[in-house]
Amino acid sequence: MKITVIPGDGIGPSIVDAALKVLEKAGAGLEYETAVAGRSALDEGKDLIPRETIESIERNRIVLKGPLTTPIGEGFTSVNVTLRKMFDLYANLRPARSFPGTLSRYEGVDIITIRENTQGMYSGVGQHVSEEGEATAVSVVTREGCRRVLKFAYETARKKGRKKVTVVNKANILKSTSGLFLKTSREIAPEYPDIETAEMLVDNCCMQLVMDPGQFDVIVTTNLFGDIISDLCAGLVGGLGLTPGANIGNDAAIFEAVHGSAPDIAGKNIANPSSLILASALMLDHIGMGERAGNIRSALEDVLSTKDRLTPDLGGKGTTGGFTDAVLERL
Ligand code: NAD
Repeated sequence: MKITVIPGDGIGPSIVDAALKVLEKAGAGLEYETAVAGRSALDEGKDLIPRETIESIERNRIVLKGPLTTPIGEGFTSVNVTLRKMFDLYANLRPARSFPGTLSRYEGVDIITIRENTQGMYSGVGQHVSEEGEATAVSVVTREGCRRVLKFAYETARKKGRKKVTVVNKANILKSTSGLFLKTSREIAPEYPDIETAEMLVDNCCMQLVMDPGQFDVIVTTNLFGDIISDLCAGLVGGLGLTPGANIGNDAAIFEAVHGSAPDIAGKNIANPSSLILASALMLDHIGMGERAGNIRSALEDVLSTKDRLTPDLGGKGTTGGFTDAVLERL
């Protein structure tokens, strides 16, 4: 099977390289087509998302992607948001799980956030700042958009043996958009009597996550809330270096780290590759290689719990290459 690999910007190429080594050692047997996007594409004199990159994704449909830098203040639309909309990757799955030996203050956190990925405040509709200094943006939420991500959340919960879905909203204030999301969830929840449903307002949810994360299992929510909540969950398990993300649609899927291109540490060989290694495991789950994905997670867990060659964000003095070697040795 051939997949598209986008090395990305900043720390991207080094952590993608680490993930590819791990995939090979795990025996995934994949072929790769490398494509560029983001800052590195611009530096090569190409578009932010070059035509050949789009064609590669159209051909292969499965993408492993390093973080991409969208130049700020130069009028570019976010590359990530564009890719998600272009391939209709409507569900963003972001698991956050405690690993032993990390700097987290919590133990036993195991939360999957599923975020609607193409609508809401990130629709990019009606963005305008008037000469009088009034800024507007339009949040677009459709019933079908809500329905498909909610179904995805319940189906994921079932597939992964999860017990509870929490529908996070702000329907008391955002009556039309968040209200439609909540109303649609009430239509869908009865189709899944085997799974407990809870409803929670987003502000309370943030407090509850910090006070008692153990009450959460699967969270499903709209775009902006999901973006924030999934970073909060990353914080519960020891930081952005440990959380992968999958952008999933009916015809394509892009697997990536939740974090960005970390320009402050790029080129220093100290980036933690765990998120992208975990993203590659999510990718293997998705393409039916769950056993190999499990082997990768176990190897990584062992490296973290034995504190072998940890990178500085995890409290160690190791390098990206050394940490990757430690994972490879376990595989
Ligand atoms: P960031 O996630 O890149 O960095 C935030 C902090 O976390 C930094 O201190 C960084 O050093 C640290 N960090 C992130 N990943 C790490 C890792 N693997 N190992 C160790 N430390 C790590 O967020 P930012 O600085 O706000 O954004 C930088 C750029 O990334 C921006 O251009 C932004 O648009 C882009 N971005 C891309 C994606 C994506 O491609 N999916 C996501 C978020 C941000």
